[in-house]
Amino acid sequence: MLSDNQSYAANKRSDSKASDLDAAVLRILAGLSDNISILDSATAGPRYQEDWSGAFGARSPVVRPRTVAALAEAVRRLHEAGMRMVAQGGMSGLVGGGAPMQDEVVISLELLNRIEACDLYGATMTVQAGATLQAVQEEAERHGLFYPVDLGSRGSCTVGGNIATNAGGNRVLQYGMTRASVLGLEVVLPDGRLVSRMGRVAKDNAGYDLKQLFIGSEGTLGIVARAVLKLQPLPRQRFTVALGVEELDQVLRALAACRGQFGPMLTSFEVMWRDFVDFVARELGIGRDPFGGRCGYVVLLELSCYDRQPERDEARVMDALEDLSASLSTQHVVIAKSLSEAAELWRMRDASGEAARHLGPYLSFDVSIPTSELQDCLPRIYAGLDAIDPAMRRLTYGHLGDGNVHLLVGCQGSPADGVENLVYREVMRSGGSISAEHGIGLEKSQSFQRLYPAAELDAMRRVKRAFDPGALLGRDRIFGLP
Ligand SMILES: Cc1cc2nc3c(=O)[nH]c(=O)nc-3n(C[C@H](O)[C@H](O)[C@H](O)COP(=O)(O)OP(=O)(O)OC[C@H]3O[C@@H](n4cnc5c(N)ncnc54)[C@H](O)[C@@H]3O)c2cc1C
Repeated sequence: MLSDNQSYAANKRSDSKASDLDAAVLRILAGLSDNISILDSATAGPRYQEDWSGAFGARSPVVRPRTVAALAEAVRRLHEAGMRMVAQGGMSGLVGGGAPMQDEVVISLELLNRIEACDLYGATMTVQAGATLQAVQEEAERHGLFYPVDLGSRGSCTVGGNIATNAGGNRVLQYGMTRASVLGLEVVLPDGRLVSRMGRVAKDNAGYDLKQLFIGSEGTLGIVARAVLKLQPLPRQRFTVALGVEELDQVLRALAACRGQFGPMLTSFEVMWRDFVDFVARELGIGRDPFGGRCGYVVLLELSCYDRQPERDEARVMDALEDLSASLSTQHVVIAKSLSEAAELWRMRDASGEAARHLGPYLSFDVSIPTSELQDCLPRIYAGLDAIDPAMRRLTYGHLGDGNVHLLVGCQGSPADGVENLVYREVMRSGGSISAEHGIGLEKSQSFQRLYPAAELDAMRRVKRAFDPGALLGRDRIFGLP
């Protein structure tokens, strides 16, 4: 820990570095002020320093372009001057990717947030990267269409951030990750050149499909400026159902049965373990446990229906749920009767951010485990955690329909390295992934580089060098360059 004098001296040093950077940015971007807003590092404030993971970055100047041309010109000039940059959307990321490091200029997309067009015949929407996910969802619905990507952070995360992280969320089971909803992309390369393939067509095999490289690259290969998104038919009716069971085996049987019974109507299969439900509903008072603490697992189903006669869908859903409850030997089935009841069930599931914040010091895992391995892998992780410290608090929930498990481990006083090694060892052993949907960012970069094969990392580094040889954009996110 630093003494007061040392920390005062360190702050002074970083303040003076920040003001040098402010002055440099103003000089380099001089003349662009009509289409760019620049906040100096003292004015910008913590909103641009810290993402949801709590990763706290340096004080940095923030450049906020209002047009794509201004974004490209600013990046070109900053690149020419050898300045490091990091792209920012809504800062809801959970791996510290958007938090600026010392000497990095923030490029925020927040003013480039227009929804430009909605094409009803083609079922596409053209948007600027800073539009929030919620704005896109609402605009689609206004046109009688549906944008299926959905995350708890919908009100703050942006389309650009979703694309950069290839965000997953609640409906991957049926509609895929963000990648599956992107038809076209306009990207500013790290040197300021614009790559624009704003295709509104499903089929485009002209050359390499470069957009796939940018999607999920976490702001390391280019800055997403605009996108064409694919929309879906708007369901006529949606059912939210909570199912309570005692064993993980029943959860997995329910998943298989729901897939069989509902087919494409099954658009979410979310699971909350008892530890998560108790913490969120009872201790934090968010949402309501429909089974009053009596079930080991609460499964949340979303069923999306399209029949012109809603009563036919309703009858079909009721029949199937009766079968399900009989085959799982559970009486615990609750169907939301109104939008507000559905919202209350989802509120509990969406409260993962609040849960993390109230847990004290914690480690957050966002892992994929093949569904058939869950019953072996998870008990090994829990046994390992108990062996490290039986008092360690853990909360488990996730998009189980995709084998995506989120695990929050309260690790006050317990060795974080030991916990991380244990979880990742077991996940890798099961054939899973250490990042299901949040990405690697800065937070998981060391683990990623330690656990993944050298040939794979080398191939990724070669791609990075091809786009950004000086590593000026999103440096050290995902991996470092030697
Ligand atoms: C309560 C809560 C629930 C969440 N649920 C989910 C979930 O279910 N599934 C899921 O996948 N994630 C989830 N997240 C994580 C987060 O919301 C997503 O990662 C989201 O896609 C980040 O978007 P953002 O605009 O906030 O990006 P930011 O946090 O601003 O940035 C994230 C990364 O993307 C880069 N970036 C941002 N914008 C651009 C751009 N225009 N061009 C290039 N790079 C860019 C940044 O440099 C950074 O590396 C959740 C977060 C919270 C707080």
